[in-house]
Amino acid sequence: MKIGRLVKQHIKQIFSHCDNVDHDEINSLLDPKYSKNTFGIHFSFARELKNIEQSQSKRYWTETYLVRGKQVRVTSQWFEKSKPLFIEYLQSKGITPAEHERNEDEDTKKKQDQPPSSRANSRYRGNHIGNAQNLFIRNVLSSIGVETFNKENWKSTKEYFSHRCAYCDTKTKLQMEHAIPINKEKLGEHRLGNIVPSCELCNRKKSGKDFREFLEGNTTAISKIEKYMDSRNYVPLDDNAQIKKILIMAHKEVAALADRYITIINLLFAESSNAERGKA
Ligand SMILES: [Zn+2]
Repeated sequence: MKIGRLVKQHIKQIFSHCDNVDHDEINSLLDPKYSKNTFGIHFSFARELKNIEQSQSKRYWTETYLVRGKQVRVTSQWFEKSKPLFIEYLQSKGITPAEHERNEDEDTKKKQDQPPSSRANSRYRGNHIGNAQNLFIRNVLSSIGVETFNKENWKSTKEYFSHRCAYCDTKTKLQMEHAIPINKEKLGEHRLGNIVPSCELCNRKKSGKDFREFLEGNTTAISKIEKYMDSRNYVPLDDNAQIKKILIMAHKEVAALADRYITIINLLFAESSNAERGKA
């Protein structure tokens, strides 16, 4: 798939990650330097609509998104070489890339061979159901308790760790990282005490692991994080069998629900494209 199409397919998921999981991420995506380091592109991933000058308007796609109260557009300036970086970025944010590399000719051939509904099903169904399930679990886990994690919290967290990566102790640009990851196995939450500063590399390498697993015997770093969690009264849910059971149930139910709605939408899609064909 062409890089532009790949990016377009994931914009909504990236922004929903900014809205629901990592509130500071949109600020990074607005930063040209971050975009250069993360994707190897020369424009910021996104730009606020009010800041796009006429001369630059062609560098951004016309669709406007509302993210954390900002109206933004996404840059159209992508090169094929950015593809692995973009896929890596998606994975680091827990987003499953929608489609793997495929031969465009084969793609065209398949389109002619198969009815549109089954084509759409086989291509998207698995990933989309997985995304719906993960998003749901993340939303539930992020909404337990009342407090939210705000800019001040992030500032004080970085200060606590002396503006260093909580894992490798380097002083560099820091990202929000969930020491206990937000998924149905580990039951991490998006709140003060579980969010620690991390360098980009550690963030990417750690992905779905628990901080203790990831740090493998680095007792200094482990106890520093544990002490931090304690100091912020963060009590991990990890051995709460009841919550785990409920989430596993919800995970299954979401799959059934997503499956049902994808079928309905695909039927609609098949009908409208049959109608199109009828016209031609
Ligand atoms: Zn690090």
